Amino acid sequence: MLAAYAVHVTQSRGRRFPEARHPYRNDFQRDRDRVIHARAFRRLEAKTQVFTRRYSDHFRNRLTHTLEVSQVSRTIAGALDLNVDLAEALALVHDIGHPPFGHAGEKALDAAMREHGLFFDHNLHALRIVEDFEQRYAAFRGLNLTFEVREGIIKHSRDYDEKEHPELAEYLLNQRPPLEAQLIDLTDEIAYNTADLDDGYEAHLLSLEQIREGVPLFERFFGEVAQTYPDAPDKLKFNETLKRVLNLFVDDLIRNTQRRVTGARVQSVDEVRSHPERLAGFSPEVEAERRRNKEFLYENLYFSPSLADEKDDAERIIRDLFTFWMTHPESLPRSYREKAEEESLARVICDYIAGMTDPFIFEQHEKYCG
Ligand code: MG
Repeated sequence: MLAAYAVHVTQSRGRRFPEARHPYRNDFQRDRDRVIHARAFRRLEAKTQVFTRRYSDHFRNRLTHTLEVSQVSRTIAGALDLNVDLAEALALVHDIGHPPFGHAGEKALDAAMREHGLFFDHNLHALRIVEDFEQRYAAFRGLNLTFEVREGIIKHSRDYDEKEHPELAEYLLNQRPPLEAQLIDLTDEIAYNTADLDDGYEAHLLSLEQIREGVPLFERFFGEVAQTYPDAPDKLKFNETLKRVLNLFVDDLIRNTQRRVTGARVQSVDEVRSHPERLAGFSPEVEAERRRNKEFLYENLYFSPSLADEKDDAERIIRDLFTFWMTHPESLPRSYREKAEEESLARVICDYIAGMTDPFIFEQHEKYCG
């Protein structure tokens, strides 16, 4: 039973190219499956989230992060009687537009583009992937996803201005996205705020004392856990604590979103869309805890000197290759040379680089700039 304010698949605005109904999968389930079968989805496995494989091969990469976001999103969407299939499809596709080398790669690619008066944005890139680059079907380019999934790709994490992005006008930019899409940015935060503490601790870049001191929420639960399991090894106390932190974020997001939806008396997706602000969100107290947790990660992990060399490498590799192909477009693969006849060379190089995995871009750098 879906809530009245959930997206009902039978009311979907549909696909660009109409398709016959599938006998036992609805349109959002098919979209989820199309994302899972996409080449860009498989490449997430070899893209850095925060840590490269230099640290460990059991840390998160973009793919396992994506699966964690999907799992948390399903739980929350289910508890709110939202459309779990849509939430799952949106979670699985949410990071598909990310370039190699995590955040450093994104920054470097954007900087290279700005020298040509252009820019790189991973949400817009994700839309290009599903609309154009993925070629699986004879009848159309791209994955032919439903409107609601394409809209969620664009609107899950930020708003785009219609004046700046007239090409996105079809996505109702002056309206809020459905709750299923609103959730994704928050579940993404829950997933990485907890996972990065975990991997940071495992990598010995964060100590237990440091986390206890810097993240008050963690410290509160740690106290409880230490009382319940006084003899457990630190790592297990850490795990038990982190589990409680994650659970609190999830629980609060469910309750507070429910409270706001009820308070706003929204009765349909249209009312969610026309509500002046997004309705999914944490309570003010937990929002403050989330912000503190995130700040701690920025101060102590993401900008830690131990990760600086890899970030510098990432920026250098992307800059070198971008410059190389700008001056030697004949060295691009044929399909990209052909695209450069219709689009700016910088955009074509950006698309090529953004699709690469970490190992592939290393190889390319060795080959052309080594
Ligand atoms: Mg993410």
